[in-house]
This record gives sequence, structure tokens and C-alpha cells, in this order.
Amino acid sequence: MGPDGEAITVDDRRPPGLPDRIGRLWEFATDISWTWNREARAIFRSIDLPIWRQTRNNPVALLRGIGDERLQALTRNRAFLQRYDALCETLDDAAASESTWFGRRHPEFADSPVAYFCAEFALHESIPIYSGGLGVLAGDHLKAASDLGIPLVGVGLMYAHGYFDQTLGPDGWQEDADNPLDPGLTPLERLRAADGVPWLTWIYGSGRRIYIGAWRVRVGRVSLYLLDTDLDENDPADRGLSHQLYAGGVDHRLRQEALLGAGGVRVLSALGIEPKAWHANEGHAAFMMVERVRNLIRDGLSFPDAVARVRASTVFTTHTPVPAGHDVFSHEQMRDWTGEKFWEEIHQRDELLGLGLHPQDEGRDRFHMTAAAIRLARRVNGVSERHGHVSREIWRGLWGSRPAREVPIGHVTNGVHLETWMNEEIVGLLDACLPPDWQDRPHDKAVWRGVRELPAEALWRVRHRLKLRLLDLMREEARRRWREHWPEAAHLIGAGMLMSPYPLTIGFARRFAAYKRADLVFRDRDRLLALLSGPGRPVQLVFAGKAHPRDEEGKRVLQRVYEHTRDPGFEGRIAFIENYGLHTAHCLVEGVDLWLNLPRVPLEACGTSGMKAALNGVPQLATTDGWWEEGFEGDNGWTIPRAPDGSSEEEVDRHDHEHLFRLLEDEVVPLYYDRPDEGPWDGPPAGWLERARRAVEVAGARFTAGRMVREYVSDYYVPALRGSTDGDDPPTSTRSGE
Ligand SMILES: *Cc1c(COP(=O)(O)O)cnc(C)c1O
Repeated sequence: MGPDGEAITVDDRRPPGLPDRIGRLWEFATDISWTWNREARAIFRSIDLPIWRQTRNNPVALLRGIGDERLQALTRNRAFLQRYDALCETLDDAAASESTWFGRRHPEFADSPVAYFCAEFALHESIPIYSGGLGVLAGDHLKAASDLGIPLVGVGLMYAHGYFDQTLGPDGWQEDADNPLDPGLTPLERLRAADGVPWLTWIYGSGRRIYIGAWRVRVGRVSLYLLDTDLDENDPADRGLSHQLYAGGVDHRLRQEALLGAGGVRVLSALGIEPKAWHANEGHAAFMMVERVRNLIRDGLSFPDAVARVRASTVFTTHTPVPAGHDVFSHEQMRDWTGEKFWEEIHQRDELLGLGLHPQDEGRDRFHMTAAAIRLARRVNGVSERHGHVSREIWRGLWGSRPAREVPIGHVTNGVHLETWMNEEIVGLLDACLPPDWQDRPHDKAVWRGVRELPAEALWRVRHRLKLRLLDLMREEARRRWREHWPEAAHLIGAGMLMSPYPLTIGFARRFAAYKRADLVFRDRDRLLALLSGPGRPVQLVFAGKAHPRDEEGKRVLQRVYEHTRDPGFEGRIAFIENYGLHTAHCLVEGVDLWLNLPRVPLEACGTSGMKAALNGVPQLATTDGWWEEGFEGDNGWTIPRAPDGSSEEEVDRHDHEHLFRLLEDEVVPLYYDRPDEGPWDGPPAGWLERARRAVEVAGARFTAGRMVREYVSDYYVPALRGSTDGDDPPTSTRSGE
């Protein structure tokens, strides 16, 4: 219901040919929680396996694509109906019991929504509104919040043109193609106001009204609202505002962030949702706080009271460990965008703009989104222990340069959604060796000890099957390349055509930002060559990742890596998979033997792909940065020690490269190929599987999104819901005139 009691309606998009007898398939297909429900997945898969694969596991596309006759036939298939009825029953029972972790612990807040704002969300491959780690984290946050029963609502933007699709030209230069999103093939539902109009509210921008529509995505118990300005009602210049993620220049960014922040507050209000706590995930969403201050001032509060009120109920998570990585807008730009009307209403222009001042910006009129967010959020955190420390260093200037340890910024280390990222075959193995209720109390470390009992044979067989699935994906991709644009042998080899399941397979997949150093392994070609073609102990490398469309340096790194995949000297032992996204990420983190992560310390705020790999029994070799600094327990992977303080960039690279190769040559490869004397040549390597089991144990016990969200609840959300201001220690420059 809207604020005036007007009904908000949702377009009914159920395929007309779907028989009522199995009509709830549509309900399941349009709720993202099917992605982590084993039985729901199995049912969709059983409808038509080839189409399921073709659609990249998209049940909406499946139900639309298989035709009425096939749907009718399902209603005569007794085995199918039995499964269907059983699933309906399980889901209804779960919905009726309503006993959730949050409900039991905090019944007093059961109806107090927590709004969660983020510029991107990764929920499923079919909704390409994410670019990487931040989006995956936000998606996993919603999923875990649903599991735990937290009354969370997500707010993001509907990027109708998606994040770009990556293809590589013959020279390895990344080509960025539009990847338009067809809502008809996604679970997105458009919301409409009472009279059927597709807009719910508006904001002012560039002196005119910008109407805002919204789409809803159901994520189990949680709803995500995606804002959209591509409406007939809007000026053509504003229709494209929400088209693409992180596209356009700094003006476009300001407009998008105003849409997310101010527009998001208004859309929630139009939907009749009144959040009692607000969480901005990264500085892009800081205008959400500014808009609330403005509303309170308009309602009659003084500026300091409005700021204090917003602070008390707001949580801010920063993700960026480099000072230059934070959004900054000029005051002139902000005034151009908002227009005079915005300020006239509240007469507090200087105060509001002052919220974004950076202490080092003395005299320059600039608005720092992160500085504003820190001033307007009583509770602020980084995303790993190390990143908390780095953030206290970066932002201590806001507290008059006090010592970093006294700066009130904490940390909640990121985690990944276990049910999403652990392959179901691994789940099956754990079902057999952990206590029967392990999935209900995954935070109990004792539960995870049982992983050490995982039988080597069974684990090795599953690991092998997952590797074969990765090779399948690579072959399928290579065939696609062949058909589409590259009938040249070198490209097919570069796609992994020659790879086989026997060699130790190392995965490296992430955004191609220079600091992630995808090219570090190539510093010494001969040494790499010797490693890859060790007699009887071959090694192969699989890369994937996109460079940001405007990151020329990232694209050059990618191109260099790509050239190596075609280098005949490497005999096809290096491959690059195009268009890294959720689907490829799953195949990679499950299918390789070792996960490699080489950020230049301390530039990785947290990193999460290594956690996903670990959950699947894939140990990680990484530099001592982000989560790995706290996650490495000595026997769950390998770590590259830190270069001595004061080393130059070149020295750090040389140091890290040397340690990387020493570990690979002296420990990783020998351990992987240490096979039993008796039995088949490819029997299970005992020592390797020890590490694999420990990787699962540590990630399961300490690095899941369930653990992360529970920490947010107890240390951040509940105090914010209480509006607690105990011990509030705002930055010194909060008040105007200081
Ligand atoms: C997990 C994930 C990431 C983030 O991985 P990092 O280790 O943080 O670099 C990026 N993209 C996709 C598709 C992912 O699944």
C-alpha cells in the first residue's frame, strides 16, 4: 500500500499456457530463493535439462520457452507432480512456522524494516546489474538476511542495459557490448501506482522533475526495489539515467547517485515502507542520508538535530582502501543538479554541503561522498580486519587527526552465501559426515570439525567431477567463439580447448584492475614454462575477468594475459574465459584445484572469491591482504608473506613473484602430485585433501554471509534500530562553522 492507502500493483506476467495444476512454478521461478533451494533447482532442471542449460539455469526463460504442450504434459507426469506437491508443502510449512533467527532474538523489531542501499546487486546471471565483488556481496547479504528472517528491504538501480558483455578481439583488446536486460526473462516485477501509472514518485534534477518507477525482485523473505527512470513521462535526457552501471562521466555519476539515494528514500515512502534503520553499502548511497536530513529540516528540525537523528539510525560500510577511490563532486556540479528550489526549501545549503568536506580540501568546494556518509552514520565499518585498520588511517582526519586506534570505525569481515556458493555435491558430502542439523547452525565451529572426517575417495571423486564441469563450460565457450568470430586455432587453444582434467589447475578470476596483478605470474616466462610443463607434474592456468570499460590500464593487463594464452610455447596450458559473471564464477571456484589471488597489499579491502573456492574444497594461495590475513590458519592454503616495509612497487612485485613461485614449486605442486604408491595413477593425494578439507572448515565456520549478517545485526542494526546514541563520537567537523 502506498502512503495514501493507494494500492501498488504488480504486473501479472505468468505465462498464459502454464496450467493451474502446476501454476506455482511461476511463483517459485520469480523468487530468487529458488537459487539456493536444492529441491526447487532439481525440479526446474527435471523439466528440460538441455533448455535449462541453454538458458543458463533461468527458470523464467525455461517456463516461457518450452511451449504449452510440454507444460500440459507435466500435469500428466505423476513423478513430477509428486515432487511439485512435496515442494509446495515444504515451502508452505516453512512460511507458516515463521520461526527465524531474528524473530526469536529480536521479536520487538520484527516489523522494523532495515533499508539496505547499494549501487549494484548480483542475484542471478539473468539480471546483469552488477559489475563484481560489491554486487555479489550485496546479493549475498540479501540472501542471508532472508535466511535469518531480518526485515530487510534492498534498494538499488535497474540498469536496463545491464553491465557490459565482454568479448575479446583477435588482438586480445576487450570489446564492450551492451547487454540489455529483457525483464520478461527475469523475475523482475514492475510496480504500478493505483491508476496503473508506472511511476511512484519523483525527484528534482537539472531543474525538472524526474519520475521514478520501480521493479521488485523477491529474494525469499526480502524484497529488493530497483529504481528506473526509463519512462515516457521523462525528458529524454533523464530516461537513460539508470541505463548503465558505472557508465558516463562524473556528472552522470552524480545524477545516478542522487537517483539511488534521494530517489530511494522517496520510493520507499511511496511504497509505505518506513525503515527504522538505514544501511548504505559503499559511499555511492550517501545521498540517502542527505535526503533524510533535508526531510527532517523541512519538517521543522534544526540542522544539528536532523543530523543527530539521521546519524543515530544509520550504518555505513566503506569498501575502498585507497583515498582516490572515493566519489567526489564539486559544489558547482551539485548546485547545477539540484537547482535552487532544493535549497530554498530548507535554507541550509552551506551546512548540507559542509557535510561532504574533506579536511585536506581546505578552501576547495568539493563534496566527498564517503566523508558525508561518515558524518551521517553513527556506525561505520570496513570489510575486513585489515581494511578496518586502513580505513581508520584514511579517515582519522575527520576527527582532528587523532591516532588511528581511537577512530570509531570498526569492521565486519565479508562473507559469502554458503547455500549459493557451495556446490550441492559438496553439500551432499557434508550431509554424510556433519551433524544432521549442520545447515541450521553453521556458526557453531564445533559443527565444522566433522569436515576432517570427509573420506578422501569421495571428496576426490567430487572434485574431479567439478573439474570436468569446468572443462565442459570451456569447451562450450570455445565452440561459441569458433562459430561467432574466431575461426583461428590459436583462439580456440586460448579458450582452453587443449586442457584436460589431469593437471593441477589454477584459477585466477577477478576484475582486471592493475593492483590485482593478473600478470604477475608472467614476470619470468622461463620459470612459468618450467612450472607448467614439469615432467609428470603438469600445471594449467585459467583466467577470467573484465576490465572496467574506461580502465585502459586494466585493459592492457588483460591484453597481455591474453597474448600469453596464445603463446605456442605454453602448449595450450593457459586459457582465458570470456565474460566473467556469476555463471562462470560458479564453474571456476568449484572446478579448479587452487585459487590464486595476488592483490598488491594493502589494496584489497577484503576479496571474496577465495572464500567461495574454499567452500568447495579449493584452497587459496594469496598475498597477505584482505580477508586472507585473518583467514589463513596455516594449513588451509598458502600465503605470500609481506614484502618489507618501505619497498618500492617494483620491489614488492619482485618479492611477491619470488615467493609465489617458491610456494608453487616447493609446496603446492609436490603436494598435489603426492599420490598413493598403490592404486590408480590418479588416486587421491592425501596431503592435498587435508588442505582442501581445512579450506572448507575454515570458510564454513568463519566466512559465510550468515556470520557476516549476524554481526551486522548485533553490532550495527540493533543499536541503530534502538536509535542508540550512547558514546556517540561524531567527527569534529560535523557542526557547521567548525
Ligand atoms: C565473487 C565475485 C567477485 C569478487 O571476487 P574478488 O575475490 O573480491 O575479486 C567478482 N565477480 C564475480 C562474478 C564474483 O562471483
